[in-house]
Amino acid sequence: MSFSQLVFAPLSYTGWGALEQLLPEIEKYSAKKILVVTDPSLEKIGIAKQVTDPLMDRGYDVIVYTGVVPEPPLAVGEELVEFTRKGKFELVIGFGGGSAMDLAKLAAVLAVHDGPVEDYLNLTGTQKIEKKGLPKILIPTTAGTGSEVTNISVLSLETTKDVVADNYLLADVAIVDPALTVSVPPRITAATGVDALTHAVEAYISVNASPTSDALALHAIRMIARSLRKAVEDGTDRQARTDMSQGSYLAGLAFFNAGVAGVHALAYPIGGQFHIPHGESNAVLLPYVMSYIRKSCTKRMADILEALGGNKGLLSEEEASYKCVDELIRMVKDVGIPTTLGGFNIPESALEQLTSDGVKQKRILGRSPLPLHEGDIRKIYQSAFDGVVTEPD
Ligand code: NAD
Repeated sequence: MSFSQLVFAPLSYTGWGALEQLLPEIEKYSAKKILVVTDPSLEKIGIAKQVTDPLMDRGYDVIVYTGVVPEPPLAVGEELVEFTRKGKFELVIGFGGGSAMDLAKLAAVLAVHDGPVEDYLNLTGTQKIEKKGLPKILIPTTAGTGSEVTNISVLSLETTKDVVADNYLLADVAIVDPALTVSVPPRITAATGVDALTHAVEAYISVNASPTSDALALHAIRMIARSLRKAVEDGTDRQARTDMSQGSYLAGLAFFNAGVAGVHALAYPIGGQFHIPHGESNAVLLPYVMSYIRKSCTKRMADILEALGGNKGLLSEEEASYKCVDELIRMVKDVGIPTTLGGFNIPESALEQLTSDGVKQKRILGRSPLPLHEGDIRKIYQSAFDGVVTEPD
């Protein structure tokens, strides 16, 4: 028997101006003391006020936690969870990129559990999440991670990353307002946008893909492909920002249900060891991993080519799958992200450590249509150092 398990999105508001729904939604809860988890730079540029001012005006007791750092290390998660446990909050809002949203959902759930965050990690943890925790509302200010609709929180460890994963981490409400992304600078727009693209591409080729995740993934690829370059070039382009936020949301739903695969598994060690932003570590590996697994999913790669807007014409499936890899390289280049590991100053001497950490990501690697073993992983990293796509022998 072959069937899919699908979990649908939290109550979501998507589109320009969706943030107006925050107050009416909060009023549905009997919460008075609210924790807002946000990025310090969002406070600095004044966007965080769009969330906190209306709440304070209504008399809510609002505490703003601005200890979020990009790609949050485990220690930041531990600190915020402790802070939330002590604070006796009744509702948590995550406002920011994936880093702020991931920390907010983690804090909302672990506030009602005991023990350190470390005990709940996917790869090494010993404890299970058993309770839902505080109500949580997630509001992305980047278009990339899809964290507002997924059930994971990603944390950086010493040389890699790991997640806390459970459906209790799902938001109660997601508010996806592209207007909040207008201030995202071009390099972060590029990185987060390719992150969303990678979610959709990997969900589409995942062994756990289903007709539902396929529909979500392909439409996400279409929206991102037509608007990512425009959003990077002109951050005030309203249509491009809208497409990117919606595309990221759809990609999040797709990968939450189908999973991501080899690109993410190999990107985690790069993010962990060299503190490269998540979107950029995905972007640099995307063409190399897709080229390596190409033969295991030529039909799907031909579909991706079409969704990317590439002309399939009279090409055979095989030819179209090669062209798909070319299109992915072109996208990464066009938005200004380095296309080799050397472009991030990662030394080749890191190859063995990257490989041994990559192999550990078994949960994610398990969704690759081509099983990736140690030798394959080493070869893919090597190709990303060399800047030449490769395939298995
Ligand atoms: P981020 O949250 O780390 O933010 C990156 C930078 O963008 C920060 O400096 C932040 O201040 C800035 N920024 C955010 N919004 C802005 C705005 N509107 N205007 C100006 N600057 C703004 O980046 P991200 O890529 O959104 O999130 C990355 C994190 O999310 C990583 O830890 C990654 O592992 C995780 N992640 C989680 C999931 C999930 O499903 N939970 C999925 C993918 C990635």
